[in-house]
Amino acid sequence: MNLFQYFSEHGHEQLIFSHDKKSGLRVIISIHDSSSGRALGGVRYRSYQSEEEAVMDALRLSEGMTYKFAAAGLEFGGAKAVIIKHPEITSREEIFRAFGKIVESLNGRFGTAEDVGTTPEDMAVIASETEHVTGLPTSMGGEGDPSPVTALGVCEGIRAGLEEVFSDDRFEGRSIAIQGLGNVGYHLAQYLNGRGARLMVADVAESKVKQAVTEFGAERIDPDRIYEADCDVFAPCALGATINSETIDRLRCRIVAGAANNQLAEPRHGKLLHEKGVLYLPDFVVNAGGAMFLTHRMRGLSRADAFKETAAIRDTTREVIEISHRLNIATSEAGYTLARSRLSRNHSLK
Ligand code: NAD
Repeated sequence: MNLFQYFSEHGHEQLIFSHDKKSGLRVIISIHDSSSGRALGGVRYRSYQSEEEAVMDALRLSEGMTYKFAAAGLEFGGAKAVIIKHPEITSREEIFRAFGKIVESLNGRFGTAEDVGTTPEDMAVIASETEHVTGLPTSMGGEGDPSPVTALGVCEGIRAGLEEVFSDDRFEGRSIAIQGLGNVGYHLAQYLNGRGARLMVADVAESKVKQAVTEFGAERIDPDRIYEADCDVFAPCALGATINSETIDRLRCRIVAGAANNQLAEPRHGKLLHEKGVLYLPDFVVNAGGAMFLTHRMRGLSRADAFKETAAIRDTTREVIEISHRLNIATSEAGYTLARSRLSRNHSLK
């Protein structure tokens, strides 16, 4: 992999590799673009097949954060941290403490929060070493897990999609297939069930599926078959790259909209969805709720006002759809068009 070529093609600024011998910490921090403001991004904790896979995850996720903030009209830069989970790690606390020291050494250039595999309790450990972290447990006066707000934002995005495809934005009677019932997927299922949608769910963790079947009367779908679910909306809420050449052929939905970051394996897959007549709502637009909530809180808004701000996701999604029509381009491309225009507006205001 030619990293500097990738940097210049995608606009990355900095990639930091850190290792702590005592705890076994192996972390990669990617800072994509801090030209709009301070670089912020969650910390992910998971195992990877290879170091290269972890690096790619950090690079792609940090770039997505830049577009997420820009599309949401927030003047922050995109970043992401990836901690590699490996068998020699014995203490979770030591890992997050060591990570906190590294964040502190960056003097505020990078701020972090929860992501896949991390919890508000991990943020509390990080906070013992640095102030550049948010999303601490509510019991400690923090903001808690942002996932429920992210799920509400996804609902707002889906509403804009339903309005476009069915000329009716109500959830009643709509069938929605959710891939992944984790922190966001479970709350999304809860909200959609409360609004009268019919749910189909898949997760590799059987206990989560059982819970959704019992609580929401959801239909269980095998994780390998979720792409073929006969539904109005397919909501990817697990990991990235699930929309690819193999799965696009199998989709039977009208709309793809979910929480997962980097849903498209490659940019051309957005075009393929467009040609197939499936409305794709860009992930970084519809999953911005948690990031919006946390950054509005950092800027001093009350919880209630920060929460209300996430409703803007519906308008932003509508704008993306409008750009797609006007320029006759796929919505995946329209999402970037909107984000880039807001990025340049941020720069011209500076
Ligand atoms: P999570 O780890 O809590 O949930 C992921 C779920 O997906 C788990 O239940 C896991 O068992 C399941 N899963 C994994 N592989 C699967 C597969 N092949 N098929 C079906 N299910 C599978 O993570 P989360 O916090 O809910 O985040 C989900 C996605 O949304 C991630 O891509 C994350 O980056 C993105 N996201 C999350 C937030 C947030 O506020 N938590 C915000 C923006 C984006």
